[in-house]
Amino acid sequence: MRLSRYFLPVLKENPAEAQIVSHRLMLRAGMIKQQSAGIYSWLPLGFKVLRKIENIVHDEQIRAGHIPMQMPTLQSADLWRESGRYDAYGPEMLRMKDRQDRDMLFSPTAEEMFTDVFRANISSYKDLPLTLYQIQWKFRDEMRPRFGVMRGREFYMKDGYNFDLTKEDALHAYNRHLVSYLRTYERMGLQAIPMRADSGPIGGDDTHEFLVLAETGESEVFYDAQITDLTFGDREIDYDNREQCQAVLEEFTSRYARTDETHDEAIFNEVPEERRRVARGIEVGQIFYFGTKYSEAMGATVADAEGNKVPVHMGSHGIGVSRLLGAIIEASHDDKGIIWPEGVTPFHVGIVNLKQGDDEADAACESLYKELTAAGLDPLYDDRNERAGGKFATMDLIGLPWRITVGPRGLKNGVVEVTSRRTGESEEMAPADAVQRIK
Ligand code: ATP
Ligand code: MG
Ligand code: MG
Ligand code: MG
Repeated sequence: MRLSRYFLPVLKENPAEAQIVSHRLMLRAGMIKQQSAGIYSWLPLGFKVLRKIENIVHDEQIRAGHIPMQMPTLQSADLWRESGRYDAYGPEMLRMKDRQDRDMLFSPTAEEMFTDVFRANISSYKDLPLTLYQIQWKFRDEMRPRFGVMRGREFYMKDGYNFDLTKEDALHAYNRHLVSYLRTYERMGLQAIPMRADSGPIGGDDTHEFLVLAETGESEVFYDAQITDLTFGDREIDYDNREQCQAVLEEFTSRYARTDETHDEAIFNEVPEERRRVARGIEVGQIFYFGTKYSEAMGATVADAEGNKVPVHMGSHGIGVSRLLGAIIEASHDDKGIIWPEGVTPFHVGIVNLKQGDDEADAACESLYKELTAAGLDPLYDDRNERAGGKFATMDLIGLPWRITVGPRGLKNGVVEVTSRRTGESEEMAPADAVQRIK
């Protein structure tokens, strides 16, 4: 992409309405524009990162054997009356009527609709196990929408639902989700810690939230410092292997880590004092096992091997896809702007032409642009007629991991400058080596 042809409306001033750094930087970097409280337009740069995050989520869900599909955002209230949640959900649910005076709602989550699709199509245990998921816009009329996309009213969420014959099978689905979530967050450069949590309006006994530690997090968290040493890394996992998935769950949940909702001071005090941490965290996902709560209420049954009709065991599993942008920026920025982890960066590398209009500099930038593209990378070429200082400030703000600076003086010696956004270190090298370095 050439910046002169792109749409990147960066702001010079700090927007007054933004209280936390991720919100401020997303506005300044031209990623989002607020349209009303908690409702945002996703401008090209923000949209690009949103897609990257979404793709990682899809990739890891599909790897775990889960099946993508899509539900409508507008749903009939009748379905929610069957589960009893139309009345139970409260003012966070956005309700409306269509022209026939039928009660409709904008889906805040989708247990009912997935259960409905399941019951309409599946009647034998032979079709289990099954996990279906979607990545779709949700609406919750939050009391206090704030912090930009972190607590929006309209937000993008991955929600998955497992259908199993037995509790044991459903707990394996729970474990698969836990493993796939660990992989998902790590690919985004995040450490998200599974913590024992409270099930809230979804219901059920088994549930973990995934929290990214950050001072601006809305949850208070209590944990054993040892937990931050754990990483999933690039280990191989067989998602059909129950023992393997169970072992990961045990490894990542055996140390004390709870949110304020389930915190127990007496148990916490058994952790050696020097390892006890009280901090704040951002909830970026949650997994639930809730058994037959919805399947019983809505008649989602299958015939088991003996021919008896039994309600299926279910769980639901969410990832806050749009909230993740905020969480990643909270975890990775400096005073100049965002520092994108490689896995989610909107462009891999920025090319800064120090002297636009200089034949040699222009030609060197063009050929770098071509070579980087041919190498499978996505460069952003700042080809505008602007001062170098302004170009650097924009690149730092939007946080691409690499910058290649091209100017007449360097080119006389056959070199360009390659700068890492994270370390700030620069190195001169031939243009061909620059492409190799970044690849
Ligand atoms: P919170 O405690 O922050 O209100 P929640 O527990 O109500 O979140 P879940 O029902 O567990 O949310 O939804 C799954 C995920 O969706 C959450 O872990 C979070 O990452 C994301 N999410 C929930 N509400 C919002 C929101 N208002 N804006 C952005 N993301 C959200
Ligand atoms: Mg909530
Ligand atoms: Mg919560
Ligand atoms: Mg939650």
